[in-house]
Amino acid sequence: MEFRNFIGGEWRETAAASANINPSDISDVIGYAAESDAAEIDHAVGAAKAAAVSWSASTPQQRFDVLDFIGSELLARKDELGHLLAREEGKTLAEGIAETARAGQIFKFFAGEALRGGGEAMASVRPGVGVEITRSPVGVVGLITPWNFPMAIPAWKTAPALAYGNAVVLKPAELTPGCAHALAEIIARSGLPDGVFNLVLGKGKVTGARLVEHRDTDAISFTGSAETGSEIAATCGRLRKKLQMEMGGKNPMVVLDDADLDLAVEACLNGAFYSTGQRCTASSRLIVAGGIHDRFVASLTGRIAALRVGNALDRATEIGPVVDGRQLDKDLSYLDIAAKEGGQVFGGQTLQRTTNGFFLAPALITETNSGMRINQEEVFGPIASVSRVEDYEAALQVANDTPFGLSAGICTGSLKHATHFKANAEAGMVMVNLPTAGVDYHVPFGGTKGSSFGGREQGAHAKEFYSKIKTSYTFA
Ligand code: NDP
Repeated sequence: MEFRNFIGGEWRETAAASANINPSDISDVIGYAAESDAAEIDHAVGAAKAAAVSWSASTPQQRFDVLDFIGSELLARKDELGHLLAREEGKTLAEGIAETARAGQIFKFFAGEALRGGGEAMASVRPGVGVEITRSPVGVVGLITPWNFPMAIPAWKTAPALAYGNAVVLKPAELTPGCAHALAEIIARSGLPDGVFNLVLGKGKVTGARLVEHRDTDAISFTGSAETGSEIAATCGRLRKKLQMEMGGKNPMVVLDDADLDLAVEACLNGAFYSTGQRCTASSRLIVAGGIHDRFVASLTGRIAALRVGNALDRATEIGPVVDGRQLDKDLSYLDIAAKEGGQVFGGQTLQRTTNGFFLAPALITETNSGMRINQEEVFGPIASVSRVEDYEAALQVANDTPFGLSAGICTGSLKHATHFKANAEAGMVMVNLPTAGVDYHVPFGGTKGSSFGGREQGAHAKEFYSKIKTSYTFA
C-alpha cells in the first residue's frame, strides 16, 4: 500500500517513502508513505489558496452535504478503518473502532454547524445606525496532528475548518500516515472542490515547519508535544499568525476517603492505562487520601496485573503495544528515574508475545511526591504514579502543582468537595467520578496553563478559531 500526498484534487507520485510499521508486529509493514520535501507544502498551500475564495462563498447546504458524506462513510466503515487504526497506532481494535466512529460523529456535528452559521445584529448607540457582527473564514489553515488519535484529531480539525469555509493543508504525524490517507480518500469523493482539502505526508521538521512559516497559511492548529508547540508558537508570534495549540498533560485524579472504592479503581484503571496511556488526558497522577490509600493501591494493582497486554488486533487484548521503540525507551527510562527518586514500581516490565512488538506491562509507581520528575514531566505511556495526601485541601494543592492544565478528576461522594474541585482545579476539563480521559465530541475540548494556547477545539466554540469576526455599521 502506498500512502501518497493529495494536492489540488490529485494523488501525487513521490519518490522517497518511509515504512509504516505495525507496533504489535514489527514484521508487518502496512505500507510506504511519501516523505515529502518543503516544495510539496508550497504546492499544497498554493492549491489551498487558489481554492479558498470560492469555498469561502459556498452555501451552508454545500458544506453540509460534503461533511455529512464524510461522516456517513466513516461511520459505515468504522470496523474496517478501526482495524487500520489499531494496526498502525497500536490501540485495541475496540478503541480503534470507537475512535473512527467518533471521527464520523464529529463530521456529522460540523455538518450541522455549517447550517447553523450565526451572527448578531443590534442597534447602535447612535440614532439611525445598525450594527452587524458577522463571521467569515480565516482562509488557508494548516493542521498539524500527532499519532495518538490518528483519525479523531485530523477529523476534529478538518471538519470545523471546512464547515466555517476554510481551505486546509493537513500534515499528520509520520508514524500514522494510513489513517490520514484513508480520511483523504473519503474527502476526495465527497464532492469537495479540488484544492480545498490537501494532505501532505512527511517529517514534521521539514513539512510541518514549512507549513507554519509559509506566508500564505493564515492560521495553524497544532496538537502535539509542548516542545514542538514552543517552536511553532515562536514562528507564529514572529509572523503574527493565528494559532491554536493543544499539547501535553500531567492530569491528576484525586481519590478521597469517601470515594466509592470500586468506582475509583475503575476510573483510574481506565484513565491511566487504556489506549496504552498514550492519551494527553491520561490520569498519570493518582492523588489518594490516607484513609483509602492502602485499599485503593491493593485493589488497583490487582486489576493492573489482570490486564491483558498484547497484539492490538487480538480481540481479547485490553492494552495494546507502545507506539514505537523510541516511546518504549522513554517509558522505561521514566520507570528508572522514578525508582531512583524513591518510588516503588509495580509492573512496568517489557513483555514477549507471539509477535514481536513494543509490549510493556502497565506500571504503577507508589510512594511518590509532587516534586519528583515522574509527577512533573509527561511520559505518555501506561504508567501512573500514586501520591498519598492527608485530606482534600492537600489533594487540591498537589493536583494543581503542575505546569500542565488539561484535565483533572476527583472521585468523591461529597458534593461540597466535588463543587469546590470543579471551581478550583486548574484545568480546562474537570471530571467528577469519571476518568480524566474520555470526552464528548459536541462540547469544547482543551486546557489551561502549559497544555493549551488559543481558542478551544470541538463543539460550536471551534468557530472562534476557524472564523474571524467583522463588525459592520450601517446608517440608513
Ligand atoms: P510531536 O510534537 O512530536 O508531533 C506532533 C506533530 O508535529 C507531528 O505531526 C509532527 O510530525 C509535527 N512536528 C514535529 N516537529 C515539528 C516542527 N518543528 N514544526 C512543525 N511540526 C512539527 O508530538 P507526537 O506526535 O509525539 O504526539 C505526542 C504528543 O502530543 C504528546 O506530548 C501529547 O501530550 C500530545 N497530545 C496532546 C493532545 C491534546 O489535545 N492536548 C492530544 C494528543 C496528543 P512528525 O510526526 O513527522 O514528527
